[in-house]
Parts: sequence; C-alpha cells; structure tokens
Amino acid sequence: MSSNTVLETTALGPIGASLEAPRPLARPEPRPGVLAIETYVPGKSVVPPGVTPHKLSSNENPFGASPAAIAAAKAAMDRLAVYPDGSASALRAAIARKYGLDAKRIVVGNGSDELLEMLAQAYIGPGDEGLFSEHGFLVYRIAILTAGGTPVVAPERDYTTDVDAILARVTERTRIVFLANPNNPTGTYLPFDEIRRLQAALPPRVLLVLDAAYAEYVRRNDYASGLELALTAENVVMTRTFSKVYGLAALRLGWMVAPAHVVDTIERIRPPFNVNAAALAAGVAAIEDEAFVSASVAHNEEWAERLTTAFEALGLGVTPSVGNFLMIHFPTTPGRTAREADAFLTARGLVVRRIESYGLPNALRMSIGTAEANELVVAALRDFLAGGDARAPETRDA
Ligand SMILES: *Cc1c(COP(=O)(O)O)cnc(C)c1O
Repeated sequence: MSSNTVLETTALGPIGASLEAPRPLARPEPRPGVLAIETYVPGKSVVPPGVTPHKLSSNENPFGASPAAIAAAKAAMDRLAVYPDGSASALRAAIARKYGLDAKRIVVGNGSDELLEMLAQAYIGPGDEGLFSEHGFLVYRIAILTAGGTPVVAPERDYTTDVDAILARVTERTRIVFLANPNNPTGTYLPFDEIRRLQAALPPRVLLVLDAAYAEYVRRNDYASGLELALTAENVVMTRTFSKVYGLAALRLGWMVAPAHVVDTIERIRPPFNVNAAALAAGVAAIEDEAFVSASVAHNEEWAERLTTAFEALGLGVTPSVGNFLMIHFPTTPGRTAREADAFLTARGLVVRRIESYGLPNALRMSIGTAEANELVVAALRDFLAGGDARAPETRDA
C-alpha cells in the first residue's frame, strides 16, 4: 500500500482503522467520534441588499434586552483589564434570591450550551451512551460525541418526547438523558407528571438533564421547569438561559441547578473564568427586571395564538407551541415546499429557520417577532401559497 492510502485510512479516524495494526499517523487526528459530528449550522441571516432584515431564526427576544441589563453591560466595559469574578457570586446570589434556593446549588455557564457540554464531559466517556429524543436540540448530540460517547435517539410521538420510548432505550451504558422541555424546534412540552414518571423509572446512576431554555414562556398549569426536582433528586439537573426571554444571547450566559455532588463535579472541570464580566453584570440586572420579562411573555402569548390561527387559515399545519417560536408544516407539492417558502421569505428579508438537520425537512421554525415582522410573515406566506412575487411590494419595479 502506498503511503497515500495510509493517510486516507487514518483520516477517517481510528474507528475505521481498528482492525488494522496501528500505523504511524501522518498528522494529528482527533479522538474517535469527533469527525462524526456535523458542524452546527446556526440560523442564517443573509437577505438581499436593500431589504430590511427581520431575524426570526434563533428564538431571540424581538424587544432586545432590559435597558437595565444593557446599562450594566456597558458599565462593565470600563473594567476590561480586570478578570471577571470566577465564582459569579453576585449573579448566583441574584438567581438564588429570585427562585428562593441555595446559591451553592447554582453553576453559571458561558451560555447553557457550555453547561450541557461540561455535563457530558464529566459523565460520559468512550463506550457510554447519551440519550435524547428524535427532534431534540442538536447540541446534545454534539456534546455526547465530543465527550467520546455514543448518541442514542428515542422516537417521538406527534413531535413530542415519548417517555416510554426513552425508557426502552436505557441500557447499562446510559449515563445521561438530555431532555429539552419545552423542546426546540418542535415547541412541544411534557407535563410535569411525565417528567416525574421518567425520573422515577430511570436507574439512579443516570443523570436526567432538563433543559428549560424556554421555561419563562410556558403558561400551562401542568408544566414545571424541573427546578424543584433538581433540588430534591440526586440525579436531576435543570439548565436555564439568558439567551431567550432575557434577550442576552450575544453575551452567552446560562445557569443550572444541580445536586451538590454534581455541582462539586462540574466545578472541577469548569474553566476558572468561563463567564465574562459584561454577562455577569447584565445577568443580575436582567433577572431583577421582571416587567421586561412579563411584557415579553405577554406579547409572545398573544402572537403565538394569532400566528397559529393565521397560518392555519392559510392551510398550513402548526404544531402547538408553548415557546417563543412556531413549527410550521408545508406541503411536499413542488412550488409549496418548506424549502421554497424559506427562499421566498428570505427574499423579503424574513429570516426563519430550516430544520432539516433536526429531521424535519417539511417544516420551518419561525421565532415570534415584533408585530410588524409577524404580519409580514403572514402576508408573505399568503403571497407564496398564491404563487405570488417574492419581492416585497416596495422593492418591485413600478
Ligand atoms: C436556545 C437554547 C438553549 C440556549 O443556549 P445558550 O447556550 O444558553 O444560548 C439551550 N437549549 C435549547 C433547547 C435552546 O433552544
């Protein structure tokens, strides 16, 4: 065999080469599993020149952030030479006050994504399995593979997590179950009795990670974020984010509540200054501005209903959502597909999210935006389904 062949074999990684005698590597190779990760493609935002963009692709808050949080972040800019507080004491105290819990049970992360990554790093190794549901958040798969583990997927029912399907896939090697509640991109949720049933049936050695990124938006009596379960059970963690209702996605800030032994574990691998000073300051101000959060939630509730009704009136299916986004289903008829609708919307500056990477090629996810953006999407989809011109009326030639 030529040396070229060796290079090609090793470029596939040690998985493909396991039956052959070890060969010298021609260049550094990542650990097994890393090349199985498909690079995360974030919501895009490229619209034609001259068209006003409305970004409805990453479930951000259309009203931005609390003015108090913005002021706090700006004030932090005067102290850029100084390391942030690595223990995040002020923010942890503010969260503890708001939710009435012990600050020692809180860990703060560079986005909740970092917390999910650290949990996988700490509890999953080669040969171990991490479980999540069919249309679950993409970061779980990435975190499990990054840690060297094997992703295991449980099918859903009606785009909703199926507790029995998860339980049926638990093996001796299962270390973590990741569950977004509500889930992104489907917008569906599990009532708290289902979460409790899952926790009660899991072996106590399996960590149940409840990702409650959209908890603030949920207005359902049978919903709970899992915070209390994380305070009482030894194998439950709940993660939260400042990226959604708090409007601080750019700063990267999340937090989790975990049993004391999990906090102790994560503190060993957490980078000492993982959260920057602007994020820490903005987080304290944001959590104290309850009026901003309630106004955002009220707007969302009103528009989730109005948009669902409007899209259904156009003949499109909408999965009932308790989050700040909607999953809209399109026909597979050429000229009316999700992919074509996305191109049509983008031409009008309306940037939504294709969700093929979640196994949902016939649907689009739209974040609920300002009243103006929402009305524009309804009008655009009406024109799209009527076979109209994608160009917005004001940019067409007279
Ligand atoms: C947006 C989102 C997050 C938040 O991630 P951050 O890293 O905190 O910005 C976490 N989980 C789900 C399901 C999400 O949709």
